[in-house]
Amino acid sequence: MSNIPETFGCNVFSEKVMKERLSEDTYNALIETIKNGKPMSEAVAKETANAMKDWAIEKGVTHYTHWFQPMTGVTAEKHDSFIAPDGKGNAIMEFSGKELIKGEPDASSFPSGGIRATFEARGYTAWDPTAYAFIKDDTLCIPTVFLAYGGEALDKKTPLLRSMQAINIQAMRIIKLFGNTTAKRVITTVGPEQEYFLIDKKLFNKRKDLIYCGRTLFGAKPPKGQELDDHYFGKIKPRVAEFMKDLDEELWKLGVYAKTKHNEAAPAQHELAPIFTETNIATDHNQLTMERMQVVADRHGMKCLLAEKPFAGVNGSGKHNNWSISTDTGENLLNPGKTPHENAQFLLFLSAVIQAVDEHQDLLRISASSAGNDHRLGAHEAPPAIVSMFIGDDLEEVLNAIEADAPYSDKEKEVMKLGVNVLPRFAKDKTDRNRTSPFAFTGNKFEFRMLGSSASIACTNVMLNTIVADVLEKYANELEKAEDFNEAVHQLVKRVYKNHKRIIFNGNNYSEEWVLEAERRGLLNLKTTVDALELYTRPENIELFKHHGIYTEKEVRSRRDILLEEYSKTVNIEALTMVDLVRKDFIPAVMDYTKKLADLINSKKAVSKHIPCRTEISLLETQAAQCDEMFVRVKELEGALKTVPYTTPLETAQYYKNKIVPDMEALRAIVDEIEVNCDREFWPMPSYGDVIFSVQ
Ligand code: ADP
Ligand code: MG
Repeated sequence: MSNIPETFGCNVFSEKVMKERLSEDTYNALIETIKNGKPMSEAVAKETANAMKDWAIEKGVTHYTHWFQPMTGVTAEKHDSFIAPDGKGNAIMEFSGKELIKGEPDASSFPSGGIRATFEARGYTAWDPTAYAFIKDDTLCIPTVFLAYGGEALDKKTPLLRSMQAINIQAMRIIKLFGNTTAKRVITTVGPEQEYFLIDKKLFNKRKDLIYCGRTLFGAKPPKGQELDDHYFGKIKPRVAEFMKDLDEELWKLGVYAKTKHNEAAPAQHELAPIFTETNIATDHNQLTMERMQVVADRHGMKCLLAEKPFAGVNGSGKHNNWSISTDTGENLLNPGKTPHENAQFLLFLSAVIQAVDEHQDLLRISASSAGNDHRLGAHEAPPAIVSMFIGDDLEEVLNAIEADAPYSDKEKEVMKLGVNVLPRFAKDKTDRNRTSPFAFTGNKFEFRMLGSSASIACTNVMLNTIVADVLEKYANELEKAEDFNEAVHQLVKRVYKNHKRIIFNGNNYSEEWVLEAERRGLLNLKTTVDALELYTRPENIELFKHHGIYTEKEVRSRRDILLEEYSKTVNIEALTMVDLVRKDFIPAVMDYTKKLADLINSKKAVSKHIPCRTEISLLETQAAQCDEMFVRVKELEGALKTVPYTTPLETAQYYKNKIVPDMEALRAIVDEIEVNCDREFWPMPSYGDVIFSVQ
């Protein structure tokens, strides 16, 4: 791509394009809608639709789609063409305001958790004008929300927009108290770092587990893994570099600020980080990024794996959700600032996050839960399933000083007083070193590291926005009544730290001691998706979401059921794939191999009884015994799959977790042992080593 500034965003119906193509009145009205949520008039919709259509047609586009994010986690599209009859037997290209604003996907099979019975299957999609339309694969894509006829959200975007509104309302109250009269809006910003694996397509196609499940279900460890750390930030291989170049260009055209790229810890693992943007746009962009990664990889003869744990024993993939709060005038409210005034405001927002995370550990954990991520959280390279926060030693010392009414350091004898004293300057990189923390303060933002690589970032940010909005509301209620504002802020920060500091842990989150310590502190340790989802519908949670207008009770319940069903379905597919592989591939393979051994023994014996056969006999005995064991375990799993209770989504998921998953693990263990002893020629699929070192 020669001219990046010119090509950047060339496929986006951006503000620049709007300005060029809309009348001044329409442009201004549309910007009011985008920035301040003003309702849109029919006339504005009509002119915008027309301008969008003309712009798209000039770029060779013939179709449009309402692009939305149903609960399946992948984006959905339903393509319609602009073609309309002109009444004289000819076709004209048309796109009305109504078509822009509202579409009606007749598809009834998107999950709704019981909200839509199939006979009233229709939901409708409505343009989300806060996100820009764009062109992808010769189609005009209109970012859209997806609702049921009763108005219930059926997608991931609607609650996200609602949560952004909730935090906007409460944070505005706080900054007003600090005397800010210029900001019109508070937004949350996100930069999601995306990890992924790239493997050769030919090898991918030889593994049914990868084809059906996106991750391997079997595989003995290769002789060389990541122990040499030679891949992390290492030189990028030419084939991967080509892919990255191509991907960047595609993303830039779509207005995604893909920025850094480097190799990650595991062989074949890489990362892409975009420059942060407003949360709703970051969410769209992350969906686009994941989709384009797969498309571009395919073009380069590779497969992009987004699964959280594609290979056991090899580093898994996550998504680091860097999150902050800022004003529309560009002030980052999680930036400590330089003056006592800025410092006090920062410490108040920091306290709000501390309190929110402590009070709602369950919701953050829920937002990172999926069958795939269960293999990652708590494993040794990923954050544990326990939610805690890292704020760094410097900041912790400041908060300790405030709590104890003590001087911050030996040098400064004065007692730390908010609104009066200046905070010491924190070196940014000093706050960023703890890579084991699930939720780390990194100088002017928080980095939530529990999220899995394949997940949409929407749910995590719904949770973050909502829980922080909730705490800010309480603070605003208290501080609006205060007589001495500075003193009230000081006391509040002091009290919050005292009551919620148990959530702060600056040590090694991977250690055994932390698990025990967290238990002593009374922190939750929700080890699996099912354990976490059980808590979703607690009365406090339903109340919280209702209060801020994020979810109705019905919506919370339906979402929980959808997630539970997704969990059960995923495990079910994986279990069936295992059974299939064992029956059709592994058992026959071991039989062939043992037959070869037996034949060899017999032919040696035929020559002379004295020819030694110790190797063959030993191998034969081991493989035959292990094969029997494999047969027992596969039958156990098959039996378990026949008795799944289809009672409630929770009970079904619990059965999968308690019975099916352990049976799968047991089966896998024996198969992996067999693989180690089996002749390479007989093993029916490429090994871990073959796959993860496949891209050179
Ligand atoms: P790393 O975690 O690899 O050290 P960086 O410091 O480069 O990463 O930043 C990680 C991500 O954080 C990037 O996507 C960046 O855009 C994002 N980020 C930086 N500032 C903010 C902010 N104020 N709000 C949200 N995300 C931010
Ligand atoms: Mg990071």
